Amino acid sequence: QEAVLQVDHLKTYFHLEKGKTAKAVDDISFKVSPGETVALVGESGSGKSISALSIMQLINKPGRIEGGTIRLNGEDITKYNTKQMTKIRGNEIAMIFQEPMTALNPVFTIGNQIMEIVRKHKKMNKQEAYEHAVHLLKLVGLSRAEELMKEYPHQLSGGMRQRVMIAMAISCDPKLLIADEPTTALDVTIQAQILDVMNEMKERFHMALLLITHDVGVVSQYADRVIVMYGGQIVEAATTEELLNSPKHPYTKGLLGSLPMVDKHVKRLETIKGTVPPAYDFPSGCRFSTRCPHVMDKCFAENPCLTNVAVEHDVRCHLFTQEVKE
Ligand code: SF4
Ligand code: MG
Repeated sequence: QEAVLQVDHLKTYFHLEKGKTAKAVDDISFKVSPGETVALVGESGSGKSISALSIMQLINKPGRIEGGTIRLNGEDITKYNTKQMTKIRGNEIAMIFQEPMTALNPVFTIGNQIMEIVRKHKKMNKQEAYEHAVHLLKLVGLSRAEELMKEYPHQLSGGMRQRVMIAMAISCDPKLLIADEPTTALDVTIQAQILDVMNEMKERFHMALLLITHDVGVVSQYADRVIVMYGGQIVEAATTEELLNSPKHPYTKGLLGSLPMVDKHVKRLETIKGTVPPAYDFPSGCRFSTRCPHVMDKCFAENPCLTNVAVEHDVRCHLFTQEVKE
């Protein structure tokens, strides 16, 4: 099955003052297939959001896509101009953000906004667009759809707003849906409902879903595959089952240990101490060396390569590259 999204060697750098370069995304490769959910996991500052914005080509100065390709159904969209990209966004790729209030216009009704999107992407008259909008709102579980059409964003709860965002996202039948911490701003009980709706829509429309989260609990429930990012790089990638049952990278183990309700076979580790180093000041050698409980001399000298350790399981850590070589 051909991937909807195929990212190869993507690099997104920010050129800061005094000649500093922040390597926010530094040579990452992955793909997402139709109907599949891939989770990008890591603490804030690990490069997850910049990866998503790079795919959408919403990187602004001093940031720049420095290298690599982003293929959507086989087409390299890094070569697209602004006009071509505008057509792709919200059409082939839709994105859902953490805080829906900022994505909705406060001065227009929900109906106005959703109908505008529908009419932009589908050849429908006003009446048809109205009916389609109501249909979409019902699809994402908003039962008072007709009334909601007349309301303004501030009249809705955070969870309802996020449902509206999902309705808008699916209104143009995107092939790829990117959700960046879609439930972080919501109450825990509402979070699960929103993720369920998103998952339902993914299955119904056979979309590829790239789910960005720092929550391993979310990963275990919704993702087919997991990509763990640290310091702008992929440090571990595996199927969800493999990653939860057999995490290898010390950072992944730390993430799993620092979060509740993770799979019981996983031995708990202490919360990872320290913070992600800034992207303009990564340590030489392994980027996790400043926080790693297993750090060795070699780790300061050499950044390990991403190495295949099992079927569909890659790890970037000297502990495992050694094992493989011996
Ligand atoms: Fe830790 Fe070294 Fe592995 Fe980096 S390479 S994660 S510092 S053991
Ligand atoms: Mg982020």
